[in-house]
Amino acid sequence: MDIRASVCPHDCPSTCALEVEVADGRIGAVRGAEANGYTAGVICAKVARYAERAHHPDRLTRPLLRTGEKGSGQFRPIAWDEALDRVVEAFTTAAARHGSEAVWPYYYAGTMGLVQRDGINRLRHVMRYSRQQTTICTAVCEAGWLAGVGRITGPDPREMACADLIVMWGGNPVNTQVNVMTHITRARKTRGAKLVVVDPYRTGTAQVADMHLAVRPGTDGALACAVMHVALRDGYADRDYMTRFSDFPPDLEKHLAARAPAWAAAITGLPVAEIEAFAALYCRTERAYIRIGYGFSRLRNGAANLHAVTCLPTLTGKWRHEGGGAFWNNRSIYHWDKTLIEGLDVRDTAIREMDMSRIGAVLTGERRALRDGPPVQAMLIQNCNPLLVAPDSNKVRRGFARPDLFTCVHEQFLTETARWADVVLPATMFVEHDDLYQAGGHSHIQIGPKLIEPPGECRSNHEVFQALAARLGARHPGFEMTAMQVIDATLRASGWPAAETVLRQRWLDVQPGFADSHFLNGFGHGGKFRFAPDWAAIGPNHHAMPALPDHMAAIDPARPEAPFRLVTAPARQFLNSSFTELASGRKREGRPTVLIHPDDAQRLGVADGDRVRLGNARGVVVVHARLFDGLQPGVLVVEGIWPSEYFEGGIGSNALTSDDPALPAGGAVFHDTAVWAQAAGAVLAVAAE
Ligand code: SF4
Repeated sequence: MDIRASVCPHDCPSTCALEVEVADGRIGAVRGAEANGYTAGVICAKVARYAERAHHPDRLTRPLLRTGEKGSGQFRPIAWDEALDRVVEAFTTAAARHGSEAVWPYYYAGTMGLVQRDGINRLRHVMRYSRQQTTICTAVCEAGWLAGVGRITGPDPREMACADLIVMWGGNPVNTQVNVMTHITRARKTRGAKLVVVDPYRTGTAQVADMHLAVRPGTDGALACAVMHVALRDGYADRDYMTRFSDFPPDLEKHLAARAPAWAAAITGLPVAEIEAFAALYCRTERAYIRIGYGFSRLRNGAANLHAVTCLPTLTGKWRHEGGGAFWNNRSIYHWDKTLIEGLDVRDTAIREMDMSRIGAVLTGERRALRDGPPVQAMLIQNCNPLLVAPDSNKVRRGFARPDLFTCVHEQFLTETARWADVVLPATMFVEHDDLYQAGGHSHIQIGPKLIEPPGECRSNHEVFQALAARLGARHPGFEMTAMQVIDATLRASGWPAAETVLRQRWLDVQPGFADSHFLNGFGHGGKFRFAPDWAAIGPNHHAMPALPDHMAAIDPARPEAPFRLVTAPARQFLNSSFTELASGRKREGRPTVLIHPDDAQRLGVADGDRVRLGNARGVVVVHARLFDGLQPGVLVVEGIWPSEYFEGGIGSNALTSDDPALPAGGAVFHDTAVWAQAAGAVLAVAAE
């Protein structure tokens, strides 16, 4: 049994350094690399049992052609040549009839490898196909972070181990990035550090915290303002620091003087005493590290909320201390030159760019979503399952049902989106191809080399681009190179050592030094943090953005016809819709379930385990109730993106979410949904696995 180095490719900030058992062309146990300072030998259970996924009998192994109705899942195997010829014919016909923008290659982060994930853009740009605005995950955080901080980096996440207080704001690392817990646990064991979790419900992370602030969804900005109010009131504001390192607007103190804990209590639903206790703890602790999660950004007002949270360490000067400050993502430190991978040298920014989160609106022909351009007639979809994960599923489904739309889906399993495809191509997994990785949640560059042969006729994304490019006459150096040659050339062009060196060293740790990562040499925006952001420079829909950190009331509010606020949070055993194909994970998760406060359940006449119907103008979903007092009355939580077949009625929780773009720069608003709820009748047994 060989132990081979690899990298987790999944859509998770941890990008774990892996050690994979390999024997007889198969993988065995997967472990975290002990020597990696961030992974520190720990990975999540999902990936530890990856052999179950890689060698799953349901893996797609041959190209398929649809034989039944769209969505029926009826296909017959065909040869690769026929499959590729059909794709090329559909793309060529669409472009001839409506122009090249009628073809929309679509992708996201089912793999995070830069070559296999982003190479689709090379094909796009060479062929002048429509561009994709990648909004479904990071866009709102990015807007909020850039508004104040101005650069996407921050204090080394390993510094959490040196903190005396860690505030996990809007994230549940127990479910989504277990390595954060490693470093928090170190701080608690060695320093007696406190953990505070801000989250609308008592997650697994909140359960082990010293303090949990169960805010109403979309009110985090109010909480942050109240903490700043207390800091100013009680003498913890660092005016010298603010003068040196921020724009320190003259009206900031007056503005925050009107945002006392009582004001925030009315908005967040938290007791004044809880807000005061949190504020006192935060203000008194120099080494206070705020780890910003994605959850509280997935709302119409998410960017404003996130900006308000980044104001906290600035107002109190905590960025100066080891173990202090705030961290969201390290994207800026890698300075990639992705010309070769993405064909940036031939990109034409005059070609329309459509919002991936609004795929339903695009495919159903909403004029604004199409940017006044031609209808989308043909798609290649990779690493992404929009029929399940994109908002407003009923609209997305109507779009995919169009008889005049051709879709080719390159996938590992027959996902919901693959079931609606005309042609399905079988895709490799990370241990079956070469790729290059950067970590959002830490600072390592790694290469994951091919370890085993893929099953059947699976091909990598890169191989599919090469084959399509050859047929379409698309010329670019990236199509003539192997994936490893693209990795090597990209590393060198970006100022990093060659691939051979990275493979030999296992990883490059490129965390900037203390002064840079703590912004002691200045923030973005010419060196100064901005309490008063230039929102117009961040996104086009900036008119409603607050001039200073504030609660921004632009959410889908609870109202008589939709009195509950729904959060659709990640499940521990799934990663978006990935891993839902594994029976072991489904068994651990149980079934689609809504967490509901006992007071609400009583009012609705719902008992534990009952079926509950949730609905709004976009759709209706049936789930089972779990009575749970770890959230406020009026808040509902459904964890996990279960495939539609596990829901009565055959449609999942994104039937309820909206494809409205977040302000000001777009982004999906998954946790900003008002719904009604009603008892749906008798208890059903859990489906046998
Ligand atoms: S914690 Fe995240 S990066 Fe690490 S193995 Fe699990 S999914 Fe992959």
